[in-house]
Amino acid sequence: MSKRDYYEVLGVDKGASASQIKKAYRKLALKYHPDKNPDKGAEEKFKEISEAYAVLSDEQKKSQYDQFGHAGFEQRYSQEDIFRGADFSSFEDIFEQMGFGGGGFGDLFGFGGRRRRGDYGADLQTSIRINLKEAAAGAKKTIRIRRRVLCDSCRGSRAEPGSDIKTCSQCRGRGRVVVHRRLGAMAFQTAGTCPSCRGEGRTISTPCKTCHGKGKVEKTDEISVDVPAGIANGMSIRLPNAGEEGLKGSGDLYVHVEVEADKNFKRSGNDIYIESPVSFVQAALGDKITVPTLFGEAELNIPAGTQSHTVFRLRGEGIPNVHTGHKGDEMVRVIVSIPKRLSGKQKKLLKDFEKEGSKGLFDGILGK
Ligand SMILES: [Zn+2]
Ligand SMILES: [Zn+2]
Repeated sequence: MSKRDYYEVLGVDKGASASQIKKAYRKLALKYHPDKNPDKGAEEKFKEISEAYAVLSDEQKKSQYDQFGHAGFEQRYSQEDIFRGADFSSFEDIFEQMGFGGGGFGDLFGFGGRRRRGDYGADLQTSIRINLKEAAAGAKKTIRIRRRVLCDSCRGSRAEPGSDIKTCSQCRGRGRVVVHRRLGAMAFQTAGTCPSCRGEGRTISTPCKTCHGKGKVEKTDEISVDVPAGIANGMSIRLPNAGEEGLKGSGDLYVHVEVEADKNFKRSGNDIYIESPVSFVQAALGDKITVPTLFGEAELNIPAGTQSHTVFRLRGEGIPNVHTGHKGDEMVRVIVSIPKRLSGKQKKLLKDFEKEGSKGLFDGILGK
């Protein structure tokens, strides 16, 4: 099933601002929320617009989507990744206040996301490319990541240091208010975010000048990533608390690992396959050859009479299991090469060999 363009889904232009995207999503979400809209297909529609919003409201995901389109984007993000760290908190509160959608977005989409209240930093995603030798031996990589962190000056409080912070009078500092509602004969009570302080429980007289009252600033950091030996293409490394910062805690950073294909070594699970040429004389008489491994070289005994494409196993020369460290094997396929040019003397020797070798070779078959 091909997917519609996320911008098209939300009905916004490519150049739409964050607030236009949010507004467009809110409008559609209220229309298609499955608790409100009993139509068949409303839930699907709601998922579609929520997915579009999850991507377009996340700066990093949005830029990846703009750059790579649907196909490229889906190679990088699973369905769960798309919603991971997405900022639906304000919408959950809206829905809750309207008396529906008590369950988190995660429940709606069939996976249990972390549902945390308050100012937690979002999870972030990035990716790195490594070669097969790095995957086999492990590697240390440095990545640059741009993320929102707490403002140094106000430590995320949003208030200018030394200025007045008052307790919110509407919620008396609790950040949540109870809303009473009637539906026919039934009375409901739901708790929602305080509209006056937006859940913070306090009001600020002078916003912090450094972050303009946002509490957060964008910062680019270099982070060192230990890539464990044995990692495979498509795996992700989770760096706890290396995501965005929030007052209540930081999100995590997920580093998606792409392992480049190697010219010579082919990986299959934790085993490695390689082809090694041998001369027909080596194959016929037997020899000890040196073959490359991911970690250096190894010696391999070729027994006399080896046929081309025979596979030999070098135990423990493969890739370690990323969890147990138990190493796979290297499989060496020997390819017997036939010389393309021969000297006169070599030709004569081979003709003599042929005469010698064929003596009696076909006797049985030809009935002699
Ligand atoms: Zn500040
Ligand atoms: Zn309040």
